[in-house]
Amino acid sequence: MKYIVVIDQGTTSSRAIIYNVRGEVVGKAQQEFRQIYPQPGYVEHDPIDILSSVRSVISTALTEARVKNSELIGMGITNQRETVVMWDKLTGEPFYNAIVWQCRRTMERCIELKGYAEEILKRTGLKLDSYFSASKIEWILNNIPKARELLQEKRLLVGTIDTYLMWQLSGGKIYKTDYTNASRTMLFNIHHLVWDDYLCNLFQVPKEILPEVCPSSHYYGMTDAEILGFEIPICGVAGDQQSALFGQCCFEKGDLKVTYGTGCFLLMNTKEEALVSKNGLVTSLGCQTNQMPSYVLEGSVFVGGAVIQWLRDELKIISKASDSEALARSVSNTNGVYLVPAFVGLGAPYWNFEAEGLLTGITRGTNRAHIARAALEAIAYQVNDVTNAMCKDVNQSIPCFKVDGGASENSFLMEFQANISNVSILSPINKEVTALGAFYLVALQQNIYKTLEDIKQVNLVDKIYSCNMKSEDRIKLLNGWNKAIKKSQL
Ligand code: ADP
Repeated sequence: MKYIVVIDQGTTSSRAIIYNVRGEVVGKAQQEFRQIYPQPGYVEHDPIDILSSVRSVISTALTEARVKNSELIGMGITNQRETVVMWDKLTGEPFYNAIVWQCRRTMERCIELKGYAEEILKRTGLKLDSYFSASKIEWILNNIPKARELLQEKRLLVGTIDTYLMWQLSGGKIYKTDYTNASRTMLFNIHHLVWDDYLCNLFQVPKEILPEVCPSSHYYGMTDAEILGFEIPICGVAGDQQSALFGQCCFEKGDLKVTYGTGCFLLMNTKEEALVSKNGLVTSLGCQTNQMPSYVLEGSVFVGGAVIQWLRDELKIISKASDSEALARSVSNTNGVYLVPAFVGLGAPYWNFEAEGLLTGITRGTNRAHIARAALEAIAYQVNDVTNAMCKDVNQSIPCFKVDGGASENSFLMEFQANISNVSILSPINKEVTALGAFYLVALQQNIYKTLEDIKQVNLVDKIYSCNMKSEDRIKLLNGWNKAIKKSQL
């Protein structure tokens, strides 16, 4: 048997998954690494921690799978997006911590650049925000003297996590990234598929230090046997959300997936159409498997499953996340209670950083079950707001979508989502679609699967949730939610 190893390098942990060529998981390992918060609003990772966690999970997963190095035929990488690392081309040393996507240190700078927002949106599909890589790279160049020094000596390399991992695992031979990752840097022109001169100039990032950009399913180069103990081709690379969209087999125009994790991420495949959202969404590049670029429309909800953690850790009304389901089901409705979890403001489609969290409609009879139910419903309402924004942008309705992520295991939440959004929800057998997406990219490049149709047979639908709510009930509930959302923004 032949095997493929996928690295899923996430924000809080690194994972390695070993697949056989049928797409079955035969071994996996996960390791958390240090989150570094040097001051309020700053979030960093030590690139050495990231690399060593990746090497360690690969070796543990291979041992668990009892797979010999000689049986490995390819590697895929999926990764946390937007996070940037710089390192020395001669020594490989990352001289400064990675600045993580969550880091807000360049917020002021982005406010300063407000006048350029429209031009940035036109070129990159992105909202001007410190979340994306450009202002983070600019910050390191301006604040860390070593970066300037190395730049002058032509020894400076910069990349997102995929680029850093490929460079390190290949012993410095691969200096590349893929379209999905490049499209989240805010330096990449998503229409012309090149690093954008105007933006590189604006953020003062010399184009020469940026990696070559390639399709997601592509031969990137070989790993170095001295570093990993085996030499195999890296041939699938994608940012985590785009990889999950691919892993969900959302190959057609209009296909949508929703990931219910700490936050919720909604991505819709718009194929060859690079739509510019009028409703607070961003446009990025999706996984590319041939010469045609493919685009996605993306919206995120900041607080998704995190509101359930809040019930558990702060309110202490449940002891584990899954308890929220039985508690919510113990009452037939929230008794008029709405919870707006705008703990860090509101994301798409509102983009209001001043919005405040809110619990409203409380009466003497309100109990913890009503609050737990309102918390789960709030996740669904927020996802519904983003899907409505998407419907407006693409000018069509959404009859169904696919789901994954920890909170998609909650069938109360999924039933309520199907009801409130009036959609069918499809949940796959293998919920780990992020890594699966990278597996598919490798398998396509290696001709294990010849077409996208072949891939659709690998991970079939496990459960379907259908709508069975009367429209007048839906309208009443949505009216209450809309009032609460308005109140949270007063
Ligand atoms: P991430 O990748 O963002 O860490 P996961 O996909 O692992 O997220 O999902 C974890 C999140 O899902 C947590 O915020 C947790 O509160 C929530 N969660 C997990 N299981 C359930 C459940 N059964 N019901 C509701 N929320 C859940």
